[in-house]
Amino acid sequence: MKNNKAKPPPSQEDRPVKRFNLVWLYLPIIVLFLFYPWSGSSIKEITWQQFEKDILSRKAAEKLVVVNNEKVEVYIKKSLANDKAFKDVFKPGFGSEINAGPHYFFSIGSVETFDRELDDAEKGFSVNDKIPVTYTKETNWFLNSIGWLLPIVLIFAFWYYTLRGSAGMAGAGGGGSIFNFGKTTATLIGKENSNITFNDVAGLEEAQMEVREIVDFLKSPDTYTKLGAKIPKGVILVGPPGTGKTLLAKAVAGEARVPFFSISGSEFVEMFVGVGASRVRDLFKRAKEKAPCIIFIDEIDAIGRSRGKGAFLTGANDERESTLNQLLTEMDGFGTNNGVIVLAASNRADMLDPALLRPGRFDRHIYLELPNTTEREAIFKVHLRPLVMDETVDVHFLASQTPGFSGADIANICNESALIAARKKEDKIGKQDFTDAIDRVVAGSEKKSKIILPEEKKIIAYHEAGHAVVSWLLKNVDPIIKVSIIPRGKSLGAAWYLPEEKQLMRKQAFTENLSAALGGRAAEEIMFGEVSTGALDDLEKVTKEAYTMVAYYGFNEKIGNTSYYDSTGEHDMSIQKPFSEETGKMIDEEVRKLVSDVYFNTKELLEQNKGYLQKVAELLLKKEVVYKEDLEAILGKRPTGEKSVKA
Ligand code: ATP
Repeated sequence: MKNNKAKPPPSQEDRPVKRFNLVWLYLPIIVLFLFYPWSGSSIKEITWQQFEKDILSRKAAEKLVVVNNEKVEVYIKKSLANDKAFKDVFKPGFGSEINAGPHYFFSIGSVETFDRELDDAEKGFSVNDKIPVTYTKETNWFLNSIGWLLPIVLIFAFWYYTLRGSAGMAGAGGGGSIFNFGKTTATLIGKENSNITFNDVAGLEEAQMEVREIVDFLKSPDTYTKLGAKIPKGVILVGPPGTGKTLLAKAVAGEARVPFFSISGSEFVEMFVGVGASRVRDLFKRAKEKAPCIIFIDEIDAIGRSRGKGAFLTGANDERESTLNQLLTEMDGFGTNNGVIVLAASNRADMLDPALLRPGRFDRHIYLELPNTTEREAIFKVHLRPLVMDETVDVHFLASQTPGFSGADIANICNESALIAARKKEDKIGKQDFTDAIDRVVAGSEKKSKIILPEEKKIIAYHEAGHAVVSWLLKNVDPIIKVSIIPRGKSLGAAWYLPEEKQLMRKQAFTENLSAALGGRAAEEIMFGEVSTGALDDLEKVTKEAYTMVAYYGFNEKIGNTSYYDSTGEHDMSIQKPFSEETGKMIDEEVRKLVSDVYFNTKELLEQNKGYLQKVAELLLKKEVVYKEDLEAILGKRPTGEKSVKA
């Protein structure tokens, strides 16, 4: 009996890749080369004098042909084929018995001169003996063909290499050939290679609980389908950069032991129209072949941004929209329970098209946040596992020193500390290496070699001392832990704070933070009577904060409880402001007033505490780095009661 079982479609890896054969480029050139009448160049060249002496005087020429007014071809009479003088030139040519000519040629300056010289030479010849002369025009078809063929070949070659180059850059999967251009560039991690599990993900308890359900769907779908439940198709992970979205998606694949297709949203977007949509189609096709599996689309905002938004500014939105439409179609298209689950990551879910987030598509939203102290401790534990450390390293201390750090920052600190210890040729990584690594991640690496003039150093010391004294005296400013005047990264000095993990911030805290930031400039003005460029970063920060206070948080009496904050991101793209010109002016005025009031108060505060300022600055000039304990020794304990000093 004949076996009618259909052969399964070849998988992407098995599929023979159609490669463009370069032979099609070279072939026409080779053919032209071969068929060029190179034999023509074997006609013997002679001079007019030789022609006159050896041919004309013997009346041996049958005819002369003037070609293109440039040269004269000479045909010898066939009757002289056996003549000793001409035997050679009559030698059989390519495919003929006898060379029918032309046998010689000579160049001429102009046709008129040639005619005159021939007339002179033939003086005394009878009419019958005069050599018949004809004039012809020959076109060199070889050079002509090259003339039009070469540009075509060059354009084609350029096009081919450009396509191949950009397809190659887009990723291994889709690159390599123009015929693969619309293929997905997703990397596939096979189920046997997905070795990341929930053990590698620390903290994120709630998020892990939610994704554990997906692992269950993939492992034993029957448990759910037999009760009539539908398996979710899409899950979107939202959170700041480095909070472990990709890691969590990989862990889901690793736990469920299913293949994992990973692609970044920007890889769909190419300069050629239609490529994105075709890549989406190909990605889902490949995924269905490998089901059950996970598709992970990182930075989905690259394609999933709300349609129509920003079209006015960017202009080239059609390609992104058609890619997004294709993604929506594919998500609708595949059956609910076919085992392909799409996980996507985004830093801003509010920017995404609502159609993408509706039930049946990415209907599950998991929010990841920056880790708190306990979570940071857990993340540190994961990344400290492979490190060789001494007993001075205290995980709890490390977690407490890194508020606001993401999982990726922590992973970076752990690696950085190992590098620092290795550079110092230590056997084990110690607490100091971790502290140095944290400093490095926060403020950049130390640049001790930077040349700083003594008077500049003094300004920097007073500037940093200004920050330190104001921060110490105002109780709502985050605790200061260290001040340094060693240049790091781009900055010439820095103050380290330990932010408290608060969910709400009061107006007073905002104002005091502005004051701490302006403390550097105020100190310069008090001590030197003029200010320097060193406050650029501070002023930038102060201006931004002041605008948020006035225009977003309703902290200004004149603007009132009105907020121009736009959580949808729509106004990021539009030129028009969400408020009137008058309100705009008012916001500007209020911001300026706020900053100048805070600056005035800060200066007053520092004037009153000038002695402290000088002491801290002098210590900084002496030691370069001043710690919390040093500050306490100079300034006494930090105020703890209700508002102690006016900011
Ligand atoms: P982005 O939005 O920039 O793409 P992401 O949220 O996808 O960032 P990941 O790529 O998952 O971040 O994280 C980067 C690295 O940070 C991980 O490879 C891992 O080493 C570390 N990391 C982040 N979060 C955690 C965590 N919760 N537990 C352990 N390691 C973590």
